[in-house]
Amino acid sequence: MGKANFYHPEIERMNRSALREMQNERLRWQVHRCLTKSEFYQEKFRKAGIKASHIKTVDDLVHVPVVTKQELRDEQVKHPPFGRYAVSPSKDWRELHPSTGTTGTPVNTIWAERDVENITAVTARTMWSFGVRPGDIVQNGFSYGLWVAGMSTHYAAERIGCFVIPIGASMTGRQIDYMMNPGSTVILCTPSFALHIAENLRERDIPTRKLSLRIGSFGGEGGTETQATRRKIEAGLGIDAYDYYGLAEIGPTFASECTAQAGLHFAEDHYAIEIINPDTMERCAEGEMGVLVITHLTREATPMLRYWTNDYARYDSTRCPCGRTHGRALGGILGRADDMVIYRGAKFYPVQVEKVVRSYKELGDEFLIEITRDDNTFADVCTVVVECLPAGVDRMTLNRRLQKDLKEELMVTPEIRIENFGTLERTTFKAKRIADKRAKA
Ligand SMILES: [Zn+2]
Repeated sequence: MGKANFYHPEIERMNRSALREMQNERLRWQVHRCLTKSEFYQEKFRKAGIKASHIKTVDDLVHVPVVTKQELRDEQVKHPPFGRYAVSPSKDWRELHPSTGTTGTPVNTIWAERDVENITAVTARTMWSFGVRPGDIVQNGFSYGLWVAGMSTHYAAERIGCFVIPIGASMTGRQIDYMMNPGSTVILCTPSFALHIAENLRERDIPTRKLSLRIGSFGGEGGTETQATRRKIEAGLGIDAYDYYGLAEIGPTFASECTAQAGLHFAEDHYAIEIINPDTMERCAEGEMGVLVITHLTREATPMLRYWTNDYARYDSTRCPCGRTHGRALGGILGRADDMVIYRGAKFYPVQVEKVVRSYKELGDEFLIEITRDDNTFADVCTVVVECLPAGVDRMTLNRRLQKDLKEELMVTPEIRIENFGTLERTTFKAKRIADKRAKA
């Protein structure tokens, strides 16, 4: 592939041993400054009985204890407001981004001046890799404000030379108006919002050929790499759809699919990627599923050494068909440990339900996994709630088929409830897929 296909050709096609050498060098710099300036890391290393000099390469990271979100939260409660892991001097700080979370106090992440620059450059690289070019009209449907992805993609789209519409995650009607005029060519939002916009296009009888939309990239939730979901988004908006990934504590939009749609590429010059078996805490072999653990190689303000993401992934370092040498998470994020449903001894994730539900043309895109408790037996009951599209569908047969297909995928048989189309709540941000309605004792 020609140079024009890459935003940072020298970095993106770097051979892996040179890339590893660059990572090792940056890691040594990061460990040194963390242990010189952060009492949080000094304490962690002391407890683990290790010194900065023990960590010379990315392979040595296995000796460093992981950092969890709960630990950061506790640290900031004890040492408000930023904890003792804010490493760069406050004169360098430029932006504050508390994590969005449904539980507990948010974790404050700071971007220093250099961090803003690196985030902008890496995000521009990811956007370029899925086909964004100067002159594109980027409709930014990611939430702005404290949430990280709105800011990073906004900066990056401007950096590339695009015309940005900073609409944010709201106003489905106006999203469609801007797609018509001035005619956005790129849309960024969550996959559930993309499906919601597609639903509205159908309701308003607007065929996708009337739109100039070419590309969409979808993050904030998994799902884009689920085949059935990708097909629905691509057909519903008339685009090529790409997966996008980021985390407040680690960085927004730092991993994305390229035009080969072959998994999430990581920017490994800025991030060291590990996949860890949560039972043994040992590193998984390539291709094996485990928890994604990420280390900041260049982050200045609030660097993370081995952040435990709670996200499951498989890593592959073989060269992608696009020519990039940076490793990929094959199939994207495969599940969040927080979203795991345990039902009658079986464990499954909402993404598995999504895969089945969205392969049915009789069903809408929305679904909900409801957990209740039977009043008589006190046993948990798991019900998958779906929406039937209007038309003379035999719901009894549909119910049986769906139950059988879900049993095959989940290894356990959930109850099924088929509602009318439009019953379940629509969202412009992250969809809620699990409703735990068990009475709390
Ligand atoms: Zn690629």
